[in-house]
Amino acid sequence: MPNVIMNDLNLCVGCNRCVGVCPMEEANITWKDSDGKIKVKIDTNKCIACGNCLKACYRGSRYYEDDTEHFFTDLKAGQEICVFAAPAIKSNFDDYGRLFAWLRSLGVKLIYDVSLGADICTWGHIRYIQKHGPNPIISQPCPAIVNYVLKHKNELIKYLSPIHSPMLCTAVFMRKYENIHGKIAALSPCAAKAYEFEDTSMVDYNVTFKKLNEYIKKNHITLPEKSSEFDSYEAGLGSLYPMPGGLKECIEHYVGKKLRVDKSEDPKVVYKALDKYAKQSTEKLPVLFDVLNCSEGCNAGTGCNHDIDIFDINTKMDALRQASIKEDHVQYMEELFNKFDKTLRLDDFIRNYTPTPVHPVEISQDKINAAFAALNKHDEISKHFNCGACGSATCYEMAVKIAKNINIPGNCAQKNHDDVTRDMDKAKKMLDSFLTSSEIVVKQTSSIDGMIKDIVAKMSDVANAISSYNQMIADIERISQKVNIISLNASVEAAKAGERGLAFGVVAKEIRSLAQSSADSAARTKEVSAKADGVMEMVNSTLAEMSKEAQASNEAISVIVEDTKKMSFQDD
Ligand code: SF4
Ligand code: SF4
Ligand code: SF4
Repeated sequence: MPNVIMNDLNLCVGCNRCVGVCPMEEANITWKDSDGKIKVKIDTNKCIACGNCLKACYRGSRYYEDDTEHFFTDLKAGQEICVFAAPAIKSNFDDYGRLFAWLRSLGVKLIYDVSLGADICTWGHIRYIQKHGPNPIISQPCPAIVNYVLKHKNELIKYLSPIHSPMLCTAVFMRKYENIHGKIAALSPCAAKAYEFEDTSMVDYNVTFKKLNEYIKKNHITLPEKSSEFDSYEAGLGSLYPMPGGLKECIEHYVGKKLRVDKSEDPKVVYKALDKYAKQSTEKLPVLFDVLNCSEGCNAGTGCNHDIDIFDINTKMDALRQASIKEDHVQYMEELFNKFDKTLRLDDFIRNYTPTPVHPVEISQDKINAAFAALNKHDEISKHFNCGACGSATCYEMAVKIAKNINIPGNCAQKNHDDVTRDMDKAKKMLDSFLTSSEIVVKQTSSIDGMIKDIVAKMSDVANAISSYNQMIADIERISQKVNIISLNASVEAAKAGERGLAFGVVAKEIRSLAQSSADSAARTKEVSAKADGVMEMVNSTLAEMSKEAQASNEAISVIVEDTKKMSFQDD
C-alpha cells in the first residue's frame, strides 16, 4: 500500500482539526510528546486517504505526496511516457491546451482524455446491468470509497462496481486497444488514485493538478502560446463525471429514470451512508449508488488547486453539458456506444478487489468507564458535554478513543478547564494563607524593631550609669592619692615625735595601707568598667544593625503582601 497522506509532526500544534474532520475513528493517534505538547499522527493502516485532514490542517503538518517530481525526472531522462488527463483538468487549468503543448515539448508521446474512459465506464455499467440484472452496485471511481470498503467495510465488497473507474477504463483502452506499451502517467485531481494505480499496476505515475501547478510555478515555467489537444477521439458526456452525481447523470442520459440511481458525497455523510447501506435489505437499495468522497466532486478533489471557485467550475461543467445535449452530439453519443459494443470487450473493464481488512480495536464497557473516570466525567451532564474540542463529536466517542489508547485525557478541554480551576482554587487558598502569615510576620518584625529601640534606649541609661560610676572611681582614686600623701606626711611627723608618735605612726601606716587598697580596688573597677564600655558599644552597634534589618525585612514583606493582593484569581 502506498503512503500518500503524510504528517510532519514538527509542525503539528495539536489543534485537533484533523481529528474533527476524519471520517475514520481510529486513523489519528493523539499523544503528548516529551515536552508535554499534544501531537496528532496518522495511523496509515486505518487511513483511507480521503484527504479531509489536508484541507483542515492550517499548519501544513498534513500533506500528501504524488509522483510529479518522479514523472518529470523520468521524462527528462528520455523515458517513453504517455499521459491521460482527468476531465477535471478543464476546471483546474484554464489553459490546459498550452499545458499539453508544454508536456509534448518535454517528450510526452500521447495525451488521452479520461472523459472517453468515463464514457466507457458508463457504457460498462449499463451493459453489465443489462447482462446481470439490476442488482445493487456501489460506484467506485473514488479510491477513498474503495479504500473504505476494502479496509473497513469488507461486507460491501460484493456491491462494489465490477466496472473499472474512468481512469482505469482509459488505461485499459490505451494499453489493450491502442497498443500503448510504455509508461502511463495520470494527470489527476486525486491524491488517493495512487492506491488504485498500485493495486492494478496499470498506471505508473499519479501527477496531481496541485503538484503539477506547484512544479510549474517553482520552476518558473512559461507555457507555450500554442495550444495542443487530446489525441483520443471525442468523448460523449464523460466530461461531467467530476461533478457530484456525474455518473448518475450519464447513466440517466442513456436509460432515463428506469433505473434508480442514488447519490451521496461529502465525507461527513457518505461513510455513514455506506454503513447504513451495509445494514439495509436489498429491496431498499438503489441499482446504483453513486458515491464520492469530496463534496464538490473531483473538480475540487484532494489533488486539486484549492483556490478554484465552485461557480466557475459549474459554469464550465454546464457549458460541457449543453454542448453534449445538442442534437448532433446526442447522435454522436449513440454512435459512440454502438462503436464500444462493436470494438470493446466488457470483460476487459472488470475490476477485481483484494480486501485489506484492518480490524477495529475491541474494548470493553469497563475500559470506557475507566476512560470517563480519567476524564473526570462522573455524571450524565459531564459525560454529554460534547463540545468537540478534542476533535471527537461526543464525549463518549472520546472516551472510546482513550480506551483504545489512541487519545489521551489531557486532550479534553473540559477536563483541562476543571483541572486548572481546581489548581487555581488550591493556589488561591495557599495565597490567602501566605498573605495571612505574611501580615503576621510584618506585625512581628515591627514589634521586634520596637523592642530593639526600647533596648537601645535602656542601654543608654546603663551607659549613663557606667559613666557616673567611672566618675565615682576617679573620685575614689583622687581621694586615695590624697589620703596616701596625708598618711605619708603623718608617718614622717610621727617619726619626728619619737616615742610619743609611735601610736600615731601605726595609725598613719594603716591609713596608707587603706588608701593603697582603695586605689587598687578603684584600678580593678576601672578595668571592669572599661570592659563594660566595650560590651555596651558592641551591643549598641548590633542592635542598630538588627533594627535596620528588621525595617528592611518589614518593607520587603510589605511590598510582597501588597503585590500579592493585587494578583487576581477571578475568571474574566
Ligand atoms: S490539524 Fe492535526 S496535524 Fe494539523 S496541526 Fe492540527 S492536530 Fe496537528
Ligand atoms: S486522509 Fe482522511 S482518513 Fe486519513 S487521516 Fe486524513 S482525514 Fe483521516
Ligand atoms: S468535553 Fe472533552 S471529551 Fe467531551 S467533546 Fe469536549 S473535549 Fe471532547
